[in-house]
Amino acid sequence: MNTASVPAGSPERGSLTKVVYILGRGRSGSTTLGQVLGAGNGFFYAGEIRYLWDPVLTHNTPCACGEQLSECPVWGKVLAELTHIDLDQIVRYQREVLRESNLVRLMRTRPDQAWPALAAFRDATDDLYSAIAKVTGCRVIVDSSKRPSHALVLRYAPSLAPYYVHLVRDPRASAYSWRNRQYSGGAGDQIRQRSSFDATLRWLLLNVSSELITYRTGRERLRRMRYEDFIAAPRDTIAELADWVGETLDESSFADERTVRVPVSHAIAGNPVRSRTGEVVLRDSGEWQRSQPSRDRLIATTVAAPVLHRYGYPFKP
Ligand SMILES: [Zn+2]
Repeated sequence: MNTASVPAGSPERGSLTKVVYILGRGRSGSTTLGQVLGAGNGFFYAGEIRYLWDPVLTHNTPCACGEQLSECPVWGKVLAELTHIDLDQIVRYQREVLRESNLVRLMRTRPDQAWPALAAFRDATDDLYSAIAKVTGCRVIVDSSKRPSHALVLRYAPSLAPYYVHLVRDPRASAYSWRNRQYSGGAGDQIRQRSSFDATLRWLLLNVSSELITYRTGRERLRRMRYEDFIAAPRDTIAELADWVGETLDESSFADERTVRVPVSHAIAGNPVRSRTGEVVLRDSGEWQRSQPSRDRLIATTVAAPVLHRYGYPFKP
């Protein structure tokens, strides 16, 4: 977030709050993309917002700035704007609405159809993002929650203008990360490592279901992006994304083509790199290409085979 030169009172009263919602599978570089987008003036990278309603996160897990959420200069104020929401109730509604098995029901549901849990969760969602916009003064909120069902709820929220970025990463790189890297998840619990088969099967399901939501959101509001293309040309990619959502690239957020100036972060949940600040050079380490066992790579390639060509990945990386 860089609100230094945002006029007081932005966003304008009555205008919609833009949300850039990153879809896709975990370990696809969504935290890095969110951070880089959030470095621009008028953009706020919030992390994985869907976890905000998790009582463990809201009470016991620190924000990327190091403070507990209630003490954080951003989330403390956001939570103070939401005291009318019954946390226990909204957690129950979220569980009901965002259940993966509900994705088709969510896609079919019209705003006027009766689904009390969806109506209540939609209202809480609208209030939450509006509170973030009010507290930060930013015009665009970047959310790397990635869940297609959560993304669909945003389209019902009357104060929001969602833009969806479907971020795809080479399934072999994703599988390598799931097998080798450990860190805490949204609610502070340890995310378990996954086998190459399990990780890639989930990669396939999440990417296919991310594509399905275009039937409800419209193609003009969804962009597919490969992590590898983003990391090859970060500044150009961010300039294109900013233009897409009706903003312009904040030139001061980049020191050069691939060095971004990351401000103090208030991202919640997700990859621990969300806490880094200062000048960050964006490049892919290529570690998975050097270190991944050939058996794991073959399994990931086989499971992802139906969509490898669709996403522009060669059978043999
Ligand atoms: Zn914070």
